[in-house]
Amino acid sequence: MQKLGDSPIHADVLICILRALPTFEALFATIRVSKALYTAYNHHRNEVLNAVAFNHVGSALPLALQLARHNEHTPTEDYMMVLSNDESLNYWDFQVTIEDICHLVKHAKVVAEWEDLYSFRKKDIRRKTSRLTILQSWRFQKALYRLMLYSRLFPADKTAYAITKNGSVSVTTELERECLLRKKFLSDCFNNELNQLREVTYFVMEIIKWVDNVDSSDMIASNKEFMDIALSVGPATILECFQNLGFEPLTETINRLCADTTPEFFEDNTSRPLLSGYLLDFISSVLQARDAESSQHISIPIPILGIGPSMKALYPRCSQCSSSSPFHLWGQTTWDYLSLSSQVLGTYLFPSLTTFLKGELRNNPVEVKHVEALLVKTPFKEIYQDIHTKNLKLSQWHDRSDDYWICTLCLTNFMKDHLHLWVIMKRKEANDQIANDCWYGYNCRTQVHKLGHAQQLNHLCEPTR
Ligand SMILES: [Zn+2]
Ligand SMILES: [Zn+2]
Repeated sequence: MQKLGDSPIHADVLICILRALPTFEALFATIRVSKALYTAYNHHRNEVLNAVAFNHVGSALPLALQLARHNEHTPTEDYMMVLSNDESLNYWDFQVTIEDICHLVKHAKVVAEWEDLYSFRKKDIRRKTSRLTILQSWRFQKALYRLMLYSRLFPADKTAYAITKNGSVSVTTELERECLLRKKFLSDCFNNELNQLREVTYFVMEIIKWVDNVDSSDMIASNKEFMDIALSVGPATILECFQNLGFEPLTETINRLCADTTPEFFEDNTSRPLLSGYLLDFISSVLQARDAESSQHISIPIPILGIGPSMKALYPRCSQCSSSSPFHLWGQTTWDYLSLSSQVLGTYLFPSLTTFLKGELRNNPVEVKHVEALLVKTPFKEIYQDIHTKNLKLSQWHDRSDDYWICTLCLTNFMKDHLHLWVIMKRKEANDQIANDCWYGYNCRTQVHKLGHAQQLNHLCEPTR
């Protein structure tokens, strides 16, 4: 019997199998399986590498290759010359090499994670992985690769300060040269692509704002250029900040890039012409220049999500009040955000305890202490879960289903209705001594100004008169 891979037909089949593998990881595992597969790969290495690169990275591969081949030691000007002359980066005529793979894989992971996040926030809150169509995904990925490449070509260290005198060239000329390079990079894009790049940049900025809120470091409020600084370190670092719930990865990157200028970097209020309006100003200026050139031609920007099915149709409504506030709905995929835990923050509980206490309870020093002690050690998710599973839920609140969503307003009211019941249940579970109920329950006004009364009676209960 003929050995596998010996005949030309066998070899063709093996190559087809290799070409269809979805990732490089799968490819390198597969060629180790048998000598026949390894030989087939060795004889058709270029063809197989290209096919798997396309499967792994997707249709934004040409841009992914540009990014993968960028070397930080090559001056931006030289690299852009290479880009504009390099015919090998043409769609059908490129060759992926072994050296490209490590970078391609690393960047593809970042891009995929951003796409998941974008889809989750903008398209389908029910799924944490991307639900973008092939076309939407292609638009998104192209824009994100461009953003990554832009931050590589024009990094923070170069752009932070007005360029210093370089021999006989004046500062102004240097600045102009740098601005021209940026415009040149952007002018390779069609108008639609520039609009999509802008859309993705706004989305990245939305995430930076979110991190700023969670981190509560007020970086954005304290430095008007912070958003530009963050954009200049690139999407990979911003994603890390998002995952770490804080700006540490960003400050580390800046420290590495601009060792001479930090720590003043974030506090510096002097004019940094290449930092302010880091990307958005240049996109606008390229678009404006084009509009001026062809004033009769009206360009219709195609947003990433296109005109497809209405976003609202994909978004669930609040199961309690039916309102549709897509970005403030809590359910299966968003619960974790309510009890994020991070090394810096410990467990992130809901923002304000007093918002969730009923009646006069928030002003009762004795009960507030009890509640605080419990909340510090219990993630929000657990409290919510307990209310539903331990028979605390009041009948006016709907039962949960698999597709149960609740808006922030309803959730606040839900917690107001139940938090005191949950606290008292926890205290009973822990066999704490609980005083007799005050007749006026959480509405009692005496609990606020008579410490003795607050200590003698329990107010975590319903009023009976
Ligand atoms: Zn609601
Ligand atoms: Zn009382």
